[in-house]
Amino acid sequence: KQTNGHEPEFIQAVQEVAEAVIPYIEGKEKYNGTKILERMVEPERVIMFRVSWIDDKGETQVNRGYRIEMNSAIGPYKGGLRFHPSVNLSILKFLAFEQVFKNSLTTLPMGGGKGGSDFNPKGKSDIEIMRFCQAFMSELFRHIGPNTDVPAGDIGVGGREIGYMFGMYKKLRNEFTGVLTGKGITWGGSLIRPEATGYGNVYFAHSMLKTQGTSFEGKTVVVSGSGNVAQYAVEKATELGGKVVTMSDSSGYIHDTDGIDADKLAFVMEIKNVNRGRISEYVDKYTSATYHEGERPWNVTCDIALPCATQNELNGDEAKALVTNGCMCVSEGANMPSTPEAIEVFHAKKILFAPGKASNAGGVATSGLEMTQNSLRYNWTREEVDAKLKQIMIDIHEACEKYGTDKDGYIDYVKGANIAGFVKVADAMIAQGVV
Ligand code: NDP
Repeated sequence: KQTNGHEPEFIQAVQEVAEAVIPYIEGKEKYNGTKILERMVEPERVIMFRVSWIDDKGETQVNRGYRIEMNSAIGPYKGGLRFHPSVNLSILKFLAFEQVFKNSLTTLPMGGGKGGSDFNPKGKSDIEIMRFCQAFMSELFRHIGPNTDVPAGDIGVGGREIGYMFGMYKKLRNEFTGVLTGKGITWGGSLIRPEATGYGNVYFAHSMLKTQGTSFEGKTVVVSGSGNVAQYAVEKATELGGKVVTMSDSSGYIHDTDGIDADKLAFVMEIKNVNRGRISEYVDKYTSATYHEGERPWNVTCDIALPCATQNELNGDEAKALVTNGCMCVSEGANMPSTPEAIEVFHAKKILFAPGKASNAGGVATSGLEMTQNSLRYNWTREEVDAKLKQIMIDIHEACEKYGTDKDGYIDYVKGANIAGFVKVADAMIAQGVV
């Protein structure tokens, strides 16, 4: 805390892991004197750099770029790039730290990293986005590579941005390699990658519901966010028989009591992905829905909640409202959307609660499958990738169950995910010596 006192999100993420891992390693001889947790909280490398570029008015703009190379014990650094004005060292260190455990849970050989910039993509022209991405990559390229560090997308970085960055990397290095994931399908991408985080979250929730002998069928579902993760969580939850009644963005949420079906979701995708507009436009077309400016959807009655927007978007009071209204399952699509107070509420009421590092790991797992396909120079079918994704989510659920089941049978997925993720990385670090 002394050295990272100015990094609240990072401390929050470390605290959650420490609370699970310290009791686990205490008294275990193989961890004695290894300072293993102290080593894991220190990034292997932090890269910060200037990104200067020229906007459409001909003015020079300056942003800060980052890449946190957190841990490479079990594979090359792997994790997304976030472009959002809120990006800072604390947020990226928290994300990189979480990524280490998440990637370990996927069962694939990937270390953990994260990066991005305080660049705000909102309101920028396509050409400005391209110039920024090229400027960003003109520095990042010297630090990454298919066997070193393989970035992907995150908030503000989707297929378009990955394309511009891949183009620049290829030009600078003069080689076509799987250095980024989330690529277009004709130039090295994997089928199902865009869907994977949202689908994976619903697959994970499905496994949780199964432990209670139930499913999505006939359940009311509240989703936050309307970006990549939210869109495909809505699609899969609906496919499995759930009725999704909300979506949101940073301005507010829409509530559609009839449910957001496939046609309505297609309209949301058009608003967000094509026109880059606001979720409020939904009610212009579907007048039965209501728009709630400046609010989050957690007061809406539901059985299942899928927070898919951003960190700390669901606080203790909102958690209480969810539980009081009958919510029995919360599965995080975003990274750390629930505050520690919210998690306390879910645990106290013993409802099903999955932390993002377990339930949203399907995205990076499919990125891992993209890396494998790139190395093989071969593409699997949609069905093959989806089947592998499903199996990975089942395996992650099993690992959480193994390490997280309390004496009374309640599965503490936070504890389970943290310990399961930790063991593999810690053991690899110890085997590789103090370096
Ligand atoms: P997108 O940029 O596609 O969408 C983000 C969504 O969250 C948008 O609806 C956005 O609204 C909303 N949002 C962003 N910041 C805030 C905020 N401060 N307050 C309220 N709403 C906000 O990102 P993704 O869908 O890719 O990512 C969403 C979450 O999922 C993040 O936590 C990310 O780290 C996590 N994640 C993503 C993975 C992936 O594969 N994409 C993998 C694993 C985790 P607006 O349009 O107004 O900005």
